[in-house]
Amino acid sequence: MILRKILSLSKSSKRGIASISALSETHQATQKTCRDFAEAELKPIAGKIDQEHTYPTTQIKKMGDLGLMAITVSEEHGGAGLDYLAYAIAMEEISRGCASAGVIMSVNNSLYLGPINEWGSAKQKQEFITPFTTGSKVGCFALSEPGNGSDAGAASTVAKAVPGGYVLNGTKAWITNGYESEAAVVFATTDKSLKHKGISAFIVPKPIPGLELGKKEDKLGIRASSTCLLIFEDCKIDHENMLGEAGSGFKIAMKSLDAGRIGIAAQALGIAQASLEVAVDYASKRLAFGKPLTKLQIIQGKLAEMAVQLESARLLTWRAAWLKDHSKAYTKEAAMAKLAASEAATFLSHQCIQILGGMGYVTDMSAERHYRDARITEIYEGTSEIQKLVIAGNLIKEMGF
Ligand SMILES: Cc1cc2nc3c(=O)[nH]c(=O)nc-3n(C[C@H](O)[C@H](O)[C@H](O)COP(=O)(O)OP(=O)(O)OC[C@H]3O[C@@H](n4cnc5c(N)ncnc54)[C@H](O)[C@@H]3O)c2cc1C
Repeated sequence: MILRKILSLSKSSKRGIASISALSETHQATQKTCRDFAEAELKPIAGKIDQEHTYPTTQIKKMGDLGLMAITVSEEHGGAGLDYLAYAIAMEEISRGCASAGVIMSVNNSLYLGPINEWGSAKQKQEFITPFTTGSKVGCFALSEPGNGSDAGAASTVAKAVPGGYVLNGTKAWITNGYESEAAVVFATTDKSLKHKGISAFIVPKPIPGLELGKKEDKLGIRASSTCLLIFEDCKIDHENMLGEAGSGFKIAMKSLDAGRIGIAAQALGIAQASLEVAVDYASKRLAFGKPLTKLQIIQGKLAEMAVQLESARLLTWRAAWLKDHSKAYTKEAAMAKLAASEAATFLSHQCIQILGGMGYVTDMSAERHYRDARITEIYEGTSEIQKLVIAGNLIKEMGF
């Protein structure tokens, strides 16, 4: 039903839409619908909500109405029932309009709903998926801690078995959607002696006694999304809130991040695409030495380099999504996509500011926001250094060494 809605809502606005002829009718419709939505509802407010650090409640609800908050969840559970390529395409278009809306959407889709969809019981799916598909409720994913981010297997949050359930103690750090979320997928150790094999995953409803939130972090970018600590102090949860089997938490986290990286790669593509559009638009209107900047070959060279980095990263991202959709191994390809797309976003937003000169440095134009937003894509869901470890590890194994 939601898919039909997406198809019927799509209007023709082809300007700047990437490689549209390579996509199926459904993917084209998803792309146009999301682009139209981003133009009408996100682009006009993105600068203001960034400056004011405001969560875009109305827009996220509308994204839920379009099916964008649960793209790959089946229609039976309230999702759009689309594939991961559709998710990547939608994430790019939404992030092109507002990277904060992009990360809110990405965390709900791939890091919160994703693991519950894959490892959740029928009861967990009913309680923790369906109400989180409409945009009125969002979820979060709590893996990182103040003492360990890249080394996620060193989690020190503890889940102690007690009659009827578990008691959580410990602090989770940097949690996107931490303020607004009404449930969290939380990773905690149930058996410290087993190290990462002793980590389990839990679904924790919010609010709940024993869970406090830290202050909202004052961030460089994606400032309309919230990020905070989740502080557990004797937080009792029911036995049935364990997600998957005891000790499978690390595997659940790593697999969820594989999928999540496709979403973050797509977020980076959206930031990069927005930067390219701002740069070309400005360069075609700005006169220097009696002609538009677009006539200057050194500017043309920058635009060409930007376009090549963007398009290469997009192809890697779509390839990773295609592999996932066809049940093929995609860990290495998702890491490649995230590495390439996040570096492309940083490069394109940097060049965009350079092309705009002084106008790139002030908040009257969106270039400086894209530059700030781009930076996080090289850090979360595994830094660029960690992506390189993942790529090299898989590559060496594939080559038989
Ligand atoms: C805005 C924001 C939102 C976030 N959202 C979430 C969220 O929703 N949920 C969640 O669980 N986490 C979230 N995070 C946490 C994020 O995933 C971590 O910040 C990230 O994984 C890096 O961990 P760290 O900050 O502890 O850095 P560290 O792990 O301390 O790394 C510091 C530096 O050392 C490098 N490094 C570390 N280990 C190695 C190695 N083996 N080889 C080479 N270099 C290495 C890193 O690449 C980095 O450059 C978020 C972070 C931010 C800033």
